[in-house]
Amino acid sequence: MDQLHTRCPHCHAVNRLPADKFSDIANCGKCKEPLLSGKPIEGTAENFEALIGSDQPVVIDFWAPWCSPCVGFAPVFEQSAQNRGEAVRFVKVNTEDEQSLAARFGIRSIPCIMVFKNGEAVDVINGALPQSHFEQWLDTALAK
Ligand SMILES: [Zn+2]
Repeated sequence: MDQLHTRCPHCHAVNRLPADKFSDIANCGKCKEPLLSGKPIEGTAENFEALIGSDQPVVIDFWAPWCSPCVGFAPVFEQSAQNRGEAVRFVKVNTEDEQSLAARFGIRSIPCIMVFKNGEAVDVINGALPQSHFEQWLDTALAK
C-alpha cells in the first residue's frame, strides 16, 4: 500500500498519507489536529462513521466511568494504543454518553472491545484482559 486513507476524527476530512512517511505527517491537512497520536480517541455518534471508515483497523473500547473493570482496563488499552502506533486506531466509546452507539452494537456487558476492518466488525471480546492476553487477542483479531 503506497497510500493510506484516513479520516480526521476532528473535522472528518479524508487525508491521504504516504504509507512510508506516515509517522511524519500526523496532523490533518485541513484542521491541523493530530490524526493519530498513539493515544485512544474519544468516539461519538458524530465521528463514529468517519473513524471506522478509515483504511486502518479500528479497535473500540466500549466502557463507562462507573464500571470498575473498565477503569482498570483503561491503562492496558492506552498501552496497546502506544505499542501499535499508526497501524491501528484506538477509540474509546463512553456508553453512558453515547447510548445510541451502545444500542446499535448491542453492548450489554462492559468493557466490550470490538475490532473493525473496512467498517465491518471482525471480532469482539467482553471483559478486561491483562496486557499480554489483550495483545494476543488483538494479534488474532487483526489478522482476520
Ligand atoms: Zn481535520
